[in-house]
Amino acid sequence: QKAEWAKLLHEKTKSVDGHEVHLVANIGTPQDLEGVINNGGEGVGLFRTEFLYMGRNELPTEEEQFEAYKTVLEGLKGQPVVVRTLDIGGDKELPYLNLPKEMNPFLGFRAIRLCLEEQSIFRTQLRALLRASIYGNLKIMFPMIATLDEFRTAKEMLQEERQKLISEGIQVSDEIEVGIMVEIPSTAVMADLFAKEVDFFSIGTNDLIQYTMAADRMNEKVSYLYQPYNPAILRLVKMVIDAAHKEGKWVGMCGEMAGDELAIPLLLGLGLDEFSMSATSILKARAQILRLSKKEMEDLAQKALQMSTTNEVIAAVKAVIEK
Ligand code: PEP
Ligand code: MG
Repeated sequence: QKAEWAKLLHEKTKSVDGHEVHLVANIGTPQDLEGVINNGGEGVGLFRTEFLYMGRNELPTEEEQFEAYKTVLEGLKGQPVVVRTLDIGGDKELPYLNLPKEMNPFLGFRAIRLCLEEQSIFRTQLRALLRASIYGNLKIMFPMIATLDEFRTAKEMLQEERQKLISEGIQVSDEIEVGIMVEIPSTAVMADLFAKEVDFFSIGTNDLIQYTMAADRMNEKVSYLYQPYNPAILRLVKMVIDAAHKEGKWVGMCGEMAGDELAIPLLLGLGLDEFSMSATSILKARAQILRLSKKEMEDLAQKALQMSTTNEVIAAVKAVIEK
């Protein structure tokens, strides 16, 4: 099986009826690049930048960040790299920021919420990203967006930093796409309006499932509610994909679900454009999609959307993939 997958290293990912999707990787540090290339990744769908800030006693400088982003962009030689701005808070703490303890960290002051308030942290990261943008195909993604106002404010700060850099005589790419993670239900529900303003969506199912089901993703007691195949989740995913396509925008998924053997047929059927997963899952996913019919998966997805329970959906997917 491994030998079969190795042959797919440089292949495109097309369904039997010719529909192409992109398989990209989630990475956490520049060291992960090698794995992306060796496993046939067509780029990076999620570069988590928290590593730059964690396990140390002070904020990373603009220069340090610039080097890290440049390394990844150059290493991927023009393939897309979606860099997510800082997503700290929740389960990921930064002791040196001295943030007050919260009753519900996952519902609290984290990610874009923190960045919009602690502007100097955010602007430093944006400058580093903008400066690195000329070394490859950079896309910038904001995490934990709940409202259009948040997106507009973040994007405005990005434009301000761009103008500052340009007036300082520093080169910045003018082809940077700016998108958001869809991981809060309000944003999925409002996807039609977001789709007019963003360049792309990436669905973060790890959080989207937790917030939709109101079930802490780390709490085993409620893990039975953590249901990727629940029709409620599938309906939200469908809303986001349809809204984006209506505006000519693309949609990725960078939560764990995107690399899941049982989810892939459904996501293909729903029309997902980009699947971002751990690098070691890419060739297996490619081999799977090469055997699937987009048309048949559309039918499967349509049926799944009308089912009433997770187990029904799982049984239906299994029946199709075991055939
Ligand atoms: C997600 O929420 O699905 C996601 C990819 O982000 P993280 O796992 O870093 O919260
Ligand atoms: Mg998340």
